[in-house]
Amino acid sequence: MPHQPQHPHLDPRSPLVLETRDLPRRPGALHAVQRKVPAPKDLGLELIGVPHGAELDLQLRMESVSEGVLVSGIVTAPLAGECGRCLRPISDTLDVPLQEFYAYEHSTTDETTDEDEVGRLQGDLIDLEPALRDSVVLSLAANPVCREDCPGLCPECGVPIDELPAGHTHEQVDPRWAALSQIKTSEE
Ligand SMILES: [Zn+2]
Ligand SMILES: [Zn+2]
Repeated sequence: MPHQPQHPHLDPRSPLVLETRDLPRRPGALHAVQRKVPAPKDLGLELIGVPHGAELDLQLRMESVSEGVLVSGIVTAPLAGECGRCLRPISDTLDVPLQEFYAYEHSTTDETTDEDEVGRLQGDLIDLEPALRDSVVLSLAANPVCREDCPGLCPECGVPIDELPAGHTHEQVDPRWAALSQIKTSEE
């Protein structure tokens, strides 16, 4: 019976797939992985994330350990989003650490752990995308702000308070009404 892979085959040419064939399976062996890849879709949260296709800079290393490969390093990416208070655009740069262990197929770790808790090599290949998503998404604020003390929007007119003159208020009475109320006062 042909071997049935548990996963759909990974494409070794995919930018978020790492090839370990040239990494000796000897603990301590190291390979640097430095690449710039386009960001996959939906890499982020509702209000902020890495734009689809924006350049992700991966500065990683793969290290052979006794039961698999440890991938670690830094991911740098541009961020775009919207301030949760004033709704103005935010652009920023994200630098996040990434560290994930991938067990060799048929290793003791492979046989004794759940696939949800420990990553797996698929043949010689590593699918980096799930770990990358976790690292990026977990580092993002669910309510991003353009700056810590962003005062938000005027509740009356919806204009960002930053863009309004100091002392902006909606309590001003129309001058004609002001005149009328003066007349009323003098009648009393
Ligand atoms: Zn703001
Ligand atoms: Zn206002």
